[in-house]
Amino acid sequence: MKDSYGREINYLRLSITDRCNFRCRYCMPEEGIEKSPHEEVLSFEEIAKLVSAAASLGVSKVRLTGGEPTTRVELPELVRMLDEIDGIEEISMTTNGSSLAERAEELARAGLARVNVSLDAIDPEKFRKITRGGEVGPVLEGIRAAKEAGLTPVKLNAVVIKGVNDTEILPLVEYAVESGVVLRFIELMPMGEVAEEDMELVPLKEVRRTIEGEWDLEADSGPKGSGPASYYRVRQDNASGTIGLIFPISKSFCSGCNRFRVTSKGSVRPCLARDEQYELDFTSSTPVKELSEQLARIMKKKPRGHQWEEEEATCGEMSEIGG
Ligand code: SAM
Ligand code: SF4
Repeated sequence: MKDSYGREINYLRLSITDRCNFRCRYCMPEEGIEKSPHEEVLSFEEIAKLVSAAASLGVSKVRLTGGEPTTRVELPELVRMLDEIDGIEEISMTTNGSSLAERAEELARAGLARVNVSLDAIDPEKFRKITRGGEVGPVLEGIRAAKEAGLTPVKLNAVVIKGVNDTEILPLVEYAVESGVVLRFIELMPMGEVAEEDMELVPLKEVRRTIEGEWDLEADSGPKGSGPASYYRVRQDNASGTIGLIFPISKSFCSGCNRFRVTSKGSVRPCLARDEQYELDFTSSTPVKELSEQLARIMKKKPRGHQWEEEEATCGEMSEIGG
């Protein structure tokens, strides 16, 4: 499906819950967000119908996100349902990794292709500080389990905040190189309530300089499904690995944007970095064709570019919309 600017839209990011067992400082307020009642959150049948409609328009890749997608207990069942939809070639997931040690294998068997795991610190104390109470041990176990289960390439996402985890940049690079996983640093995005908080972004230029102090850096094409990241090969003595820098604010990647998002309650967000959000009108008896027509109409409204250049925060929490 093409949008009004000729961009081929083939990638759907689905937030399947707004609940989470962590409270990352850059994503959720300390007290959490008001949870949507269960009946307002899309059921697996509704999600499958939505994905069928998207697939009929040319969407071939789906990423499950949230909130924390693994908080939906029957998640493997959802993966199986989506894997059976004609036209869906890849199902991936973004997770905080805290329950991957127990779930990776079952998810891989159900048809999950790969995972991105958020990891902002290796040091247990720093990890607790940024996630407000999370434990890093199970996440590291989860990353190992994901690799063993073949959910590869495993990519790690890290957000760096001044005074919170900026001393973790080099330990994260070392960990990623040792573990053979790709690490991407993501610039903090000004979203929802947390944008009001006093958090200072560490510009990726600075992250890059810190890495260059210890590692040789060379531009690299990056792994399959790279998306909006610039990749580098890092080398030191006999060790080498891949890191990516994702610049949603300082380097606009809108012209190649191929994606849209659906929130856990079924609202369509054509652009993460704009406030516009559209409601779908469907029930379990709505024909897929009718839902496809609604989606196609909404996609024609996908904006050309984002509003963060104007330094304005967007509405809605990342955990609701799906990062
Ligand atoms: N709970 C899962 C996780 O943490 O990976 C999936 C949902 S989380 C919202 C998805 C991604 O969004 C994470 O990698 C997280 O680091 C990122 N994220 C959340 N809030 C952000 C913000 N304000 N700026 C940049 N990235 C953010
Ligand atoms: Fe939860 Fe992920 Fe948000 Fe952290 S980034 S609070 S793990 S949804």
